[in-house]
Amino acid sequence: MKKQYVVIGLGRFGTSVAKTLAEQGADVLVIDANEEKVDQAISYATHAVQADATDEQALRSLGIRNFDVACVCLGEIQSSIMAALICKEQGIDLVLVKAQSEVHAKVLYKMGVDKVVFPERDMGIRVAHNLISSNILDFIELSDDYGIAEIEVHAPWVGKTLVDLDFRKKYGVNIIAIKNGHSVNVSPLPGDVIAEDDVLVVIGEEDSISRLEQYGE
Ligand code: ADP
Repeated sequence: MKKQYVVIGLGRFGTSVAKTLAEQGADVLVIDANEEKVDQAISYATHAVQADATDEQALRSLGIRNFDVACVCLGEIQSSIMAALICKEQGIDLVLVKAQSEVHAKVLYKMGVDKVVFPERDMGIRVAHNLISSNILDFIELSDDYGIAEIEVHAPWVGKTLVDLDFRKKYGVNIIAIKNGHSVNVSPLPGDVIAEDDVLVVIGEEDSISRLEQYGE
């Protein structure tokens, strides 16, 4: 059966989540207290409802317990905590919340929220990595120490196989995919040969990725 998504709060982040889910063909209910925001969402969401997401009765009557995934995207911390709590209490399997601060995140995890995201902080990290190294096209932080980076191929790597490069041994970094234009090789083999315009997707410790990026000869 198709998964049912509910997105609470149609700020910039919530709207972007809801639109992308809808574009991917998902069923999305969006909830916002602001009538104008709800009206705008009618064009892309499966259902758009004006309601106060901190009002348990209101969420209950919308049948929120029937949803598989909830995404709470409210700017105000108190409202965000209330809405997340109601979603968890109603038994939604996966509740994801946009957090404003580490303290906010800590409270959310204590309440049993499944996933907390910091869109601004995460985008800041990605942008900074990209600014520091022109070869790092993108960076996703997995934890304080680990990340995934997309790295442009250095000239000495061209024509070599993954075995020749041996990044795992030399840098403790694994190549998890090789991108080329629109195509992505998601299970690279030891004998695959690196081309000049390839982009390597690597996973490892942040320090190791930096070393690979700086001294990757
Ligand atoms: P962003 O930073 O992603 O733009 P905002 O915090 O500016 O997010 O937007 C939050 C959205 O949540 C607004 O559209 C606002 O109308 C809505 N909102 C705020 N409080 C509630 C609430 N209690 N119930 C439902 N929607 C709310």
